[in-house]
This record gives sequence, C-alpha cells and structure tokens, in this order.
Amino acid sequence: MNPVTVIGPGTVVASFGRNPNVVTNGSVAIEGDRIIDVGAFEELGATYPRADLLDAHGGLILPGLVNLHHHFYSALARGLDPGTPMHDFGEILEGLWWRLDRALDAETVRLSAALSLADCIRWGCTTVFDHHASPSCLSGSLELIADVVREAGLSAILCYEVSDRNGHDEAMAGLEENLQFALDHRENPRLRGLLGLHASFTVSDATLEQAARQRPADLGIHIHLAEDLLDAKLSQERYGRTPLNRLDHFGLLDGRALLAHGVHLDPYDVSRVAENGATLIHNPESNNNNAVGRLDLEAALSLGCTVGLGTDGMSSHMLRSQRAAFLGVRAGTGDPTTGFDTVPGLLAANTRRAAQAFGEPLLGLLEAGAPADIIVIDGPPPTPVDDTNAFGHLLYGASERVVRHTVARGRILLKDFRHTTLDVEEVADQARAATPALWERFRSLDT
Ligand SMILES: [Zn+2]
Repeated sequence: MNPVTVIGPGTVVASFGRNPNVVTNGSVAIEGDRIIDVGAFEELGATYPRADLLDAHGGLILPGLVNLHHHFYSALARGLDPGTPMHDFGEILEGLWWRLDRALDAETVRLSAALSLADCIRWGCTTVFDHHASPSCLSGSLELIADVVREAGLSAILCYEVSDRNGHDEAMAGLEENLQFALDHRENPRLRGLLGLHASFTVSDATLEQAARQRPADLGIHIHLAEDLLDAKLSQERYGRTPLNRLDHFGLLDGRALLAHGVHLDPYDVSRVAENGATLIHNPESNNNNAVGRLDLEAALSLGCTVGLGTDGMSSHMLRSQRAAFLGVRAGTGDPTTGFDTVPGLLAANTRRAAQAFGEPLLGLLEAGAPADIIVIDGPPPTPVDDTNAFGHLLYGASERVVRHTVARGRILLKDFRHTTLDVEEVADQARAATPALWERFRSLDT
C-alpha cells in the first residue's frame, strides 16, 4: 500500500466559518495521520502519481465535524416508555434520564457508546465531547468508553457528570473518575478528559469547592448551565447564588469552560461568560425537544460570546444541528434575512475548541500539516460553490445528504457508506438483546 492517499475529485471546503477556501475540482492528499497537500485534483495527481485514490465522486470534501456536547449514554432510550407523567424539565430528568443512567451497567454503557460512535462516523463527526453518567457503574466507566472510542477510531474528550443528586459520596466518586481519567490521558493525541459537572442545581457548594481545589489548572469544566429556569431557581434556593455566580465564586469560570445551553442566562451573565472566555454550547434540537426555551444566539454573539454547537444526545448529526440552529434564529427573530451572519461561526468555534483540547492548532482545517480529519458528503453539488456561498451548500444541501467517507487521523472509518471499524449490525443486535433487561431495571427504580 502506498503511504500517500489522495481524496478527490470533489469540491474542497477547507474550513468552516467566514473563509472556507473553496477549491473546485479539488482534492486532499494525506500521509499517515496528516494532510500533506490540498489543491486541484489534476495537480495532486501529478505530484503524487503512485498515491492510492479514495474516490470522492465529486462530493463536498470537508473537515471532520466536531460535536461539542453529546451524551452517548442516552442511546438506549429510544422507544422507552417512562411509564410516568413528565410535565416539565425537572420531571423529564427524574422520570427518564436519572433513572436510565442508574440502570446502566458496564455492558449497556459499552453498547450505548458503540451505537453513538457509529452514528458519529455515519454523519461525519471525527471529534466528540461526551458527558457521561452511569451511577451504578461509575468507577472506570470513562476508560470503558475510551476503549470503544479507540476501537471506533475517533477522537474524544470525555467526562463524568459529577452530581450530588444521589448523595455526596457519589459526587466525590464522580470527581475522582474525572481527575483520574484526565491525568491518565494528559498527553494522549486522541483522548482527553474534562471536569464534568451535571448542573449547578444538583452540585453542592462542598462538591464545587472540592472540584475547584483538586482540578489541575488546565482542566476545564463541562457543565449544563441555565438549560431550564429550574437551574436558576433551585441554585438560588439551595445555595443562595445564580448558577453562573456559583461557577465564578469557586473559580471555575475560565477560558476552558464549556457551558451547555445557556438558554436562561440574562445579558449581563452572557457578557461575563464572554469576558471570561468560556464557550456556550447551543443544542437547538434538544432545547426544542424538552421545550425549555431557545438560546438567543444573535444576542449572545453580539455580546462577544463564543458559541459552539452540540446535539445533547438527541442525535450525532452535526449538520442537522446546524440547520436547526439556523431555523431557530429565523423563527426566533421572525426575520428571514437573519442567520447567515451568525450561524456559520458555530462549527468553526467547535473546531477551535477541539484544536485547543488536543494542542493541535490546525485541527478542523484542510491544509498541509493539519490532522487528517476529513469527510466526503455524497453527491456533486448541483450549483456552483465558492467562498461566498459555501455555507448555503452546507445548510441546504449537505445536511440532507449522506456521508460517503469519514477519515479520522488518516484512518478510513467509513468507506463508500460502510463502516470499517465497527460492525453496526452486530452492535445493534447486541443492543436489542441487552435492552429489555436495562428497561426492566429502569422500571424497578423510583423516580
Ligand atoms: Zn446535555
């Protein structure tokens, strides 16, 4: 096998955001885990005459997508009847998610991760930030997930969601799980840790103090913040401070903090998020599903906030999440001219955070020297693509197309629509076999 592979011909969109650097009839050459060249297909063919070809069939060639907020553990909730009324966000947590996570055992943690990672590959995500909970299988759960991540071939930033909702001892065990995993993977080029916290209203002052005291200075937090009004209400009642004030008080609000949702932050709080360099993570499909409200994306960006994008366990489909964000802006503003000046920055923010996490400044760009994280969207674009309209093609075209190839750090994980690392049919068979017992354990747990 030749050490160089050329991916092409297709339309290269070399980055997300404002300067996509489109190359029509283009290609990308990779060697090992790096991109070594980007340019016209004919030129690269002449430069690397003995290279292997990964035929892009004229599709869009994009950087691998990054998901900034996922929950692998939610994969086996599909079709589950909680059997209890759930009228609001608090009841959804207590009736569904906090029972499901307690019912998970090692095997269902593994299967949930495999199912989610297979979907990440299927939809072109090459780096994923996961937020995990499995109280009955806590110690070692992140390493268990990491094993599946390695098998799948993706890059991941993992954390365990520390919470006092099942008692302080469990919160401390969650903290230890985060710290150990982060320590063990400090230099890992494909796996890193974060300090996961569930949400302000379920994390006590004592736990936040311990977390702040024990975390290394470069270990950022990953927390749900102001997803629903419940977070502010209970944080104030229980701890006498708003969710953001609590993070600030304990010194956890910094440039590495990932703050999922932020739906109910007021403009002053959003400004403080911006001043501290933290990142808000917009999860539009999940917010719609839980009917918790909508992040005012335009206001957050106008206040200088960095905003990224996640799926919050709803799916692993980042281009669809981007489309939901765009439609949400239009629905929220009632203005059909909005969205094109704000939404394109979300996926770019995601790649910058992934680049920071791995110390890989070129991650998320198709250029020489960057990690070879590359996807090919199937089908040639039916209209011209250039730097001015590439986002329109992602929004209205690519989000509705399937992914033909997914390449992560030079390894082909999806080739002509077929997984090469995970046997998705076997995983689904195993999941269907394991789910009845999981759901039985779920039903036996009180809300
Ligand atoms: Zn979440």
